[in-house]
Amino acid sequence: MDRPFVIGNWKMNLSLSKSAALARAMAEEKPPERATVVLCPSFPFIAAVAETVEGTHIKVGAQNAAAEEKGAYTGEVSAGMLKELGCHYVIIGHSERRQHAGENNEMIKRKLTLANHYGLVPILCVGEKMEERQTGQWENVIAHQLTVAEGLPLAANFLIVAYEPVWAIGSGQTVSSDDARLAARTIRALLLELLGATVSQKQCAVIYGGSVTAANVKMFVGQDLMDGVLVGASSIDAHEFLGIINALNK
Ligand code: PEP
Repeated sequence: MDRPFVIGNWKMNLSLSKSAALARAMAEEKPPERATVVLCPSFPFIAAVAETVEGTHIKVGAQNAAAEEKGAYTGEVSAGMLKELGCHYVIIGHSERRQHAGENNEMIKRKLTLANHYGLVPILCVGEKMEERQTGQWENVIAHQLTVAEGLPLAANFLIVAYEPVWAIGSGQTVSSDDARLAARTIRALLLELLGATVSQKQCAVIYGGSVTAANVKMFVGQDLMDGVLVGASSIDAHEFLGIINALNK
C-alpha cells in the first residue's frame, strides 16, 4: 500500500480542550500526505475535531457505531449520525467493546453493514487472546471473527481490517515482524475467500494494532507486512503520533 494508514484511537482519554489541542497540533504539523492519518476522538468531540482538521488531509473517525439504523435505542449513536458529523471512518468490534460491552459477531456484522451502507470506512478489529495464541488457535479465532465481512457489498467503499492481538493492546508487548507478516498474509487470504479477488486486493487494507510506538512501527508496516497501524496510547501524544507517521515516511 503506497499510503500507510496511521489511525489514532483516543479511547475515553481526552477532555474537549485536550482533544481540540491535539487535533490542532496535528493540523499545524501538516503530516506528510503519503500517510492516511485518521483521528478517532470520543463521540461528543467529533464535531470539534472535524472542524479543527478541516482543510487538511487528516480524516476523522469514530470509535464505535450502533448496531441499529435508528429508533428507540437510548444512548446509541448511529452510522448515519457519524457521517453527518464529518466522520469518514469508524472502528468496529474493538476488543474492549467485545470485552466490556458484550459485542458479538452478530452485532458486529450489523454495525459493519450499517457503517458500509452510510459510506463510512469500517476499521474491523480482530485478534486473539493470549491463551488462544498459546494454544495455537489464533488463525481460527481470526477466521471466525472475519466471517462478519462475508459478502459485504463494498460498492465503492473500502474495508480496513485491524489485526489487534488482545494481549498486545496497552501492554507494551507486540507481535514480532515475522508474526505480523504471517498475520497479514493469513488475513489477506481469508479476505480473498470472503470477498473475492478484486475487492480483497483493491478495496481492503490490513493494519496492525497493539503497543505501537515511533520506535517499533517499522517492524509492522511495509512490503509483505501490514498496510498501516491502529494506535492507542501513542496516539494521544502529538509528538509520539507524529513520530509514528514520520517513521513510515522515511
Ligand atoms: C488499541 O486499543 O486499538 C490499541 C492499539 O492500543 P495501544 O496502542 O495502546 O496498545
